[in-house]
Amino acid sequence: MIHEIAPKHMDNQYHEKEVQDDSRICFCTGRKILGRIKDGMLVWPLYREVKDRAGECTYLFSISGRDYFLAEGKEEGEIEDAVWMDWRDIRDKEPTAEAFAGMTAMHLSQWHNSVQYCGCCGAKTVHDKKERMMRCPSCGNMMFPKISPAIIVAVTDDKNRLLVTKYAGRTSDQYALVAGFVEIGETLEECVQRELMEEVGIRVKNICYYASQPWGCVGNLMVGFTAKLDGSDQIHLDKTELGLAKWLTPEEVPEIDDNSSLTREMIRRFKHGCL
Ligand SMILES: [Zn+2]
Repeated sequence: MIHEIAPKHMDNQYHEKEVQDDSRICFCTGRKILGRIKDGMLVWPLYREVKDRAGECTYLFSISGRDYFLAEGKEEGEIEDAVWMDWRDIRDKEPTAEAFAGMTAMHLSQWHNSVQYCGCCGAKTVHDKKERMMRCPSCGNMMFPKISPAIIVAVTDDKNRLLVTKYAGRTSDQYALVAGFVEIGETLEECVQRELMEEVGIRVKNICYYASQPWGCVGNLMVGFTAKLDGSDQIHLDKTELGLAKWLTPEEVPEIDDNSSLTREMIRRFKHGCL
């Protein structure tokens, strides 16, 4: 998956660091990031290439000693060979560590943009020096990074079939799994049960944690579960959320060549009998 970058390691702890000539610079706007593909490999601009237009740079994280910064300036000029990419353009690119850096930079950038002003009193906020937090100098409000937990669940039945879905209104030909955001006041397991009842009208048992995955382009932390069908396999589709939901045997599940997401890993493992 995209966050599995060993033997490299992402150090997420906030440090007060100065940008250096060889620091990687992330220009982000909305869910897009400026980068280039060089000899098939994903490369982010270096500070020495863009220092005249990067503006103030905010430290984000490091990967195995290499520092990444967010450019506060708006990219207006051309950077040779660089193009705006969205998360679909980078998710399955090599090196995986650079793709993961881009996804994480998008998440931090979206948070930064949303906390430029205090949500309580409207004053301009400032960076805290010691931790990743924006502080209101007027009323003292502290704004920490926002992460939205969401569940994703691979449901199987006793005929060795997997419940797959496709989202309503999307053109993707890839199958997905039932997923949804955790509501305030519910556990992850309750969220699994609620989402399955809402979206496809089925009950499950044996809910087991599978793995988690930061999915930065949309600010999520995905928490994956497996579960067994409990009772009827009859699907009652919520057509506002889903365009399709059905049970597939391993032979009916198409081969997946992109292993970047938890969804795709779980579907692939089901197909190969190791979920
Ligand atoms: Zn305030």
